[in-house]
Amino acid sequence: MKTLKTLFRDELADMYDAERRLVKALPKMAKAATCPDLRKAILSHLKETQGHVKKLEQVFQSFDEKVRGQTCEATVGLLEEADEIAADFKGSPAINAALISAAQKVEHYEIASYGCLHEWAGLLGNTRAAGLLQEILDEEKAANESLTELARASSNEDALGESDGMGSEKAAGNASGKLRRGVRPVVAGRNRAGFSSR
Ligand code: ZN
Ligand code: FE
Ligand code: FE
Repeated sequence: MKTLKTLFRDELADMYDAERRLVKALPKMAKAATCPDLRKAILSHLKETQGHVKKLEQVFQSFDEKVRGQTCEATVGLLEEADEIAADFKGSPAINAALISAAQKVEHYEIASYGCLHEWAGLLGNTRAAGLLQEILDEEKAANESLTELARASSNEDALGESDGMGSEKAAGNASGKLRRGVRPVVAGRNRAGFSSR
């Protein structure tokens, strides 16, 4: 019979696989980012993500279970889309907005998963596991919020920049936010934020 315990175990193995994939993927996403603040945010979440792997191992141990991963098809798919979008938008002023959207889809998936796992650990009476899962959940939520802030602070405005592709971005950067004023107010905002696009 498939019980809540079975569901919990399977989902835990799914997230263990997801986190390990993210540990490999986040450095690539950071490298693809041209916004230094976004790169920093991704790398700082990489550290937390390495911690999530360790915490999940502790959750397994708290149930006297062997640590186990089970391919998370959702994360595989989300990371494929992230690769695709990063390749499509390479050299574009929308690259950071594209990466933020890909990263936020991952965070939302994690938030949904850890929300459930946390509740289930409580129902199963394992307060140690519930506490660890709450810690992970809090970090996923904070990571998601940082990404929203970065998008609002500059990446989305940056993404509005010249639609004629590579090269035009450089010209806008040279304007240093003064020449373009009145023509494209968003350009000034982006330059103040310290974006360096190629
Ligand atoms: Zn995580
Ligand atoms: Fe999954
Ligand atoms: Fe995360």
